[in-house]
Amino acid sequence: MQKKEQLYEGKAKKVYATDEPDLVIVSYKDDATAGDGAKKGTIRDKGIVNNRLSNALMQKLEQEGVPTHFVQQLSDRETLVKKVDIIPLEVIVRNVAAGHFSLRMGVEEGTPFKQPILEFSYKNDELHDPFINHYYALALGLATQEEIDAITAYAFKVNEVLKAVLLQANIRLIDFKLEFGRLADGTVVLADEISPDTCRFWDATTGAHLDKDLFRRDLGGEEDAYQEVMRRLLG
Ligand code: UDP
Repeated sequence: MQKKEQLYEGKAKKVYATDEPDLVIVSYKDDATAGDGAKKGTIRDKGIVNNRLSNALMQKLEQEGVPTHFVQQLSDRETLVKKVDIIPLEVIVRNVAAGHFSLRMGVEEGTPFKQPILEFSYKNDELHDPFINHYYALALGLATQEEIDAITAYAFKVNEVLKAVLLQANIRLIDFKLEFGRLADGTVVLADEISPDTCRFWDATTGAHLDKDLFRRDLGGEEDAYQEVMRRLLG
């Protein structure tokens, strides 16, 4: 597989073309941002952890019936994935109150929910990813009803699979963000990444943060925490 020109550079990843029109290479960086870009820094070897973890979790999800963009890991930081047209929704699933939910709703962090919450944001940096519901997505043509139905079913399935996998590593899945994309034929697949950048992971015994909140909140220890999650999940 020939790596060609850079197509895109985001906050945490770069994307390169390949000699196959339907495949691209994702390259994970150590760069970290928080607070809508207000805080910038790096987390050493984060790119390696996120690449390896995201690939392992996506392979597990494929086995459990959730289609993903994953094709093949190429190196520590690089992975071959199917080229998708990203659906501009941040799809958030919550099991326990935290972060913006706690602020918005006045519910103490750590309060478990009676059932998981599914939430959408419009993925738009200029507008700071505003909170929307599925009627907004339909009205604005961001996704079709069929796509929303598929995304909803996949998101809850991802939650069940990830909760079980993580609990075996003594990690509680508090909440997470997913992104989905369309293949050339319109099929909806899970894309982007699943990592401590995009999930809240708490140690199931101590409640310690094992995710990007350590960086966001200036708590420190984020490099060790990312390594710890990788060690627990991948050995
Ligand atoms: N999240 C993310 N990217 C975003 C916003 C949120 O990956 O741009 C993840 C975040 O890591 C957490 C979940 O989505 O696991 C819910 O985040 P929340 O809405 O509470 O916002 P936050 O407080 O993280 O900004």
